[in-house]
Amino acid sequence: MQPDDIVRKEVFSARHRFHPGRVVNICFIAVLIVSTLLTWREAVVLEDAYAATQHTHLENVVNSLDRQLQFSVEKLLFFRNGMQDALETPLAAPVLHDTVSRFNDLRNKPFWQLAFDERRTLPLNGISDAFVQQTTSLIRDDERLEKEMSAAFEMGYLLRINAPAAHAKRIVYVSRAGFYVSTDPIDTVRDIPTRYYQLVTSPWFTQQSERDNRPRSVRWLTLINEKIVNVSMPVDYQRDWYGVLAIDFTFQGLKKLLQDAVGDNGEGEFQLYDNSFTLLATSESVASHVNHFDERERAQIASTLENDTVGEIRLGSRYVNWQHLDHFDGVLLRIHTLREGAHGDFGSITIALTLLWLLFTAMLIGSWFVIRRMVSNMYRLQHSLQWQAWHDPLTRINNRGALFERAKALAKRCEQQHQPYSVMQLDLDHFKSVNDRYGHQAGDKVLTHAARLITSTIREADVAGRVGGEEFCVVLPGAGPEEAMRIAERIRARINDREILVKKSQTARISVSIGVSSARESDNYDFEQLQSIADARLYQAKQRGRNQVVGQDEKK
Ligand code: GH3
Ligand code: MG
Ligand code: MG
Repeated sequence: MQPDDIVRKEVFSARHRFHPGRVVNICFIAVLIVSTLLTWREAVVLEDAYAATQHTHLENVVNSLDRQLQFSVEKLLFFRNGMQDALETPLAAPVLHDTVSRFNDLRNKPFWQLAFDERRTLPLNGISDAFVQQTTSLIRDDERLEKEMSAAFEMGYLLRINAPAAHAKRIVYVSRAGFYVSTDPIDTVRDIPTRYYQLVTSPWFTQQSERDNRPRSVRWLTLINEKIVNVSMPVDYQRDWYGVLAIDFTFQGLKKLLQDAVGDNGEGEFQLYDNSFTLLATSESVASHVNHFDERERAQIASTLENDTVGEIRLGSRYVNWQHLDHFDGVLLRIHTLREGAHGDFGSITIALTLLWLLFTAMLIGSWFVIRRMVSNMYRLQHSLQWQAWHDPLTRINNRGALFERAKALAKRCEQQHQPYSVMQLDLDHFKSVNDRYGHQAGDKVLTHAARLITSTIREADVAGRVGGEEFCVVLPGAGPEEAMRIAERIRARINDREILVKKSQTARISVSIGVSSARESDNYDFEQLQSIADARLYQAKQRGRNQVVGQDEKK
């Protein structure tokens, strides 16, 4: 490869590798990526903080609601213990004994009510022996009946003074021996059989049998049609199942309970569901504001509910988190909509962060655009100046300075490699007369044309330059005197043969005189000396009549 090729190639590849426009692009992209990543990180931190806050809101309400429901369960336990204590150690009051003994007169009546000081305790509402015998789950064992009735009166006292709170509809003890005690008064005693029948056939009663509730634990049950949630507990004594204690909550009561629990944690809607994902109550008072879920969303929530006690899920623009309750067989859901979120602290921070990022990105893109343009203009200018420094603007070939520099570099290389090296000096003949006849512009055209003819005739490795007004010089690395003469002759012939269009429909013919020198002749690789020899030979060519090539000094 020729030295100037190497120079050119290096400049070319460096230009492509370190193109300032590219560097600017990379820098801006890096800044954009870094700023976006930082914003993203902030957003992730913000999201975590949001989730934690939402969970705290929910947890507060769950704890408060749990406390309320736990209170009800504990009440049931208290009544059951009271009943069991009374069975263990019956009250030896004669009045109580007399009242219970009145039962024998009533036991065959289809319905009856056995009252004992109604200011202190609740009456026993009962049905006949026949009714009991007809129903398999019932049993009226005379031996334990008297004790149970006395105990029921004693527990009735506890039930009466623990009248149900606003959210509970009633507290009831249902005995398997054909009677019940309830805080819910009846309109007429005729209703007793129907009521008792309803009680002993309701699922919360039948499911408390020894077989269906082996651990003898508290059970929660939703009665959707009645809009009631029931919590029940079996009452056993000495391994016998006596009956069931239960509290009924209306959905409305649960709503009140939930709203009390929500209190100041007001943002978002809270929804209470039972274990089969039936909506029991919502904290939202306005029906149209209640969040509803479609089938797909319900399935999505239900599947996540199964796995953990606490969790969250995003449904479109809604953020839903949930937590199971400890003292209720269900789950509390909190639904936070995007609109609610946007109004909150996290919403405003997120909006500010997004706007900041957008502003920064817009400014970045704007400045990128301006800098990119500035850099590419400067780059273009630099290249144009560089080109101008090395080239002749008219003929677009190397100028004198560039030619000398390259010619010297090539001479050095050829000398090192012991290669031939020739120089050719050219001068257009009678060029002044071209200017005089056709004008200066036409002269310029001829000059340009001649330069093109020279560069298209020489080999790829050769270097041509304009060294004076109508004078050119060609450096021929690797070419000996004979080859240089051949090339010079080719140039001369091509210029001489060509009709050059100088003006509209006006052509001119010119010729060129050429002097050739070669390093082989005297083993002299000094370019300036070789050029001077070539110049002297060019003068000889002019002397001999022009339009010719001289490659040897005239023998004197
Ligand atoms: P010869 O070399 O054959 O002896 O005759 P000549 O007429 O070519 O020689 P001379 O050196 O006297 O004239 C050179 C002329 O070239 C003079 C000048 O007007 C003209 N010339 C030099 N540079 C330019 C240029 O850039 N454009 C034009 N149009 N003419 C130029
Ligand atoms: Mg001249
Ligand atoms: Mg001339």
